[in-house]
Amino acid sequence: MQTPMPAHLQQVRLPRWLLPSDWPQIQGHPAPAQLGLSQGRITALTPAAQAQPAHSGWNLHGALALPGFVDAHVHLDKTFTLPRIPHVEPGLLGAIEAMMTDRAGWTAEDVRQRAERALHWAWEAGSTRLRTHVDWWEPDRVPVAWPVLRELAQAWRGRVRLERVSLMRLAFYEDAAQADRLARTVAASGPDALLGGFVHTAHWNETGLRHLLRAAQRHDLDVDLHVDEELEPSAHGLATLARLTREIGFTGRVVCGHVCALAAQDEATALRTLDAVARAPITLVSLPATNLLLQDAVTGRTPRQRGLTLVKEARERGIPRLLASDNVQDPFCRLGSYDPVEALAIGALVGQLPDPFDTWSEALCRADWLERAPAAVQAPSLIGAPADLVLFADADMHGFPSRAARRVVLRDGRLAHGQPPAGWLPSAAHAAHAAHAAPAPASSFVLS
Ligand SMILES: [Zn+2]
Repeated sequence: MQTPMPAHLQQVRLPRWLLPSDWPQIQGHPAPAQLGLSQGRITALTPAAQAQPAHSGWNLHGALALPGFVDAHVHLDKTFTLPRIPHVEPGLLGAIEAMMTDRAGWTAEDVRQRAERALHWAWEAGSTRLRTHVDWWEPDRVPVAWPVLRELAQAWRGRVRLERVSLMRLAFYEDAAQADRLARTVAASGPDALLGGFVHTAHWNETGLRHLLRAAQRHDLDVDLHVDEELEPSAHGLATLARLTREIGFTGRVVCGHVCALAAQDEATALRTLDAVARAPITLVSLPATNLLLQDAVTGRTPRQRGLTLVKEARERGIPRLLASDNVQDPFCRLGSYDPVEALAIGALVGQLPDPFDTWSEALCRADWLERAPAAVQAPSLIGAPADLVLFADADMHGFPSRAARRVVLRDGRLAHGQPPAGWLPSAAHAAHAAHAAPAPASSFVLS
């Protein structure tokens, strides 16, 4: 049995950032909407109070809804390895050491099984797009996970768009000819591949960074980097990137993950860097869970510094900024579930973010912020967009993202995961639904 595609969603509470600026308010909050759905797309958006009554849809009675999520920074090659690793020293270096030991046993099948489980979890959470980093340990050998993840990207096409980033040390790019060779290899390895690198004071290499950008430009690749994932105030990877993109005239997008060091710098230096970032084709991605676990981590001592980058100051400057999962159940982070809402919940607390639903949920949904020409401050229009929606059965705007676990995922307007509460369904279906006391198993709703 498959629940039919609803033609309308009535009384849907959408976040403020997604609505036109003249959208009606009720007591200072956006009024509920009515959405028209047709052929897998959103075809109409009307304030519910002005909409024609519709009998062929679901009435959400004010339940919250968000567009499908983008989880912009994960590590599918490492995921779910923690259960087989006996001991991990605290901090980033301890995690790297534990990972080095485990990766000696990686096979294509091992990576495939772990990554596929992650994709299923992401799909159930409501993500439509994932970007994974993949460790490249040697410049002349493509790692075992790279082609496996390409195969999975093809297998999951239409459900989750999977992008791959080559995570390499900057030293690999120091030689310009080798940098060019690496970029060519990545570009030739299929669609949705990006050039990546690890930018850190312990491996600082400005020449490598410059060659990385030049090689990416030559091979028409976008770039995604781990940047300043440390609390060293002198770290200047982000500032250097802002300068180099201008010097080179870089035309792609550079996504910078972590950038924790901004939070450890004096205010004037950090804000000067953000001013430069705002003029560069740079998107920031903050990974609150992993940074809480790895920054200022010393055995037997309570951490004092928290490692979240300056997300509020970035927002003030109109810098595209996303929140993402990062490591899930591996030596770098023992928690995680490929649910971007979890990243928002942690970020909202550690960053004291006001209005998680109406303002900060944007940081889970703006896939265009990974593109070369993002829609800037204004959200892209909902009309004409695929009807990929995450509907929250229990959450409300005051407590969000608390009680966000029970959700209904629509993909192309059809039910992909979860079960609509009986009270959402039209009355005839409602009665039929109530008559069948036992709901159909969730798996019968999963489209493939
Ligand atoms: Zn990462």
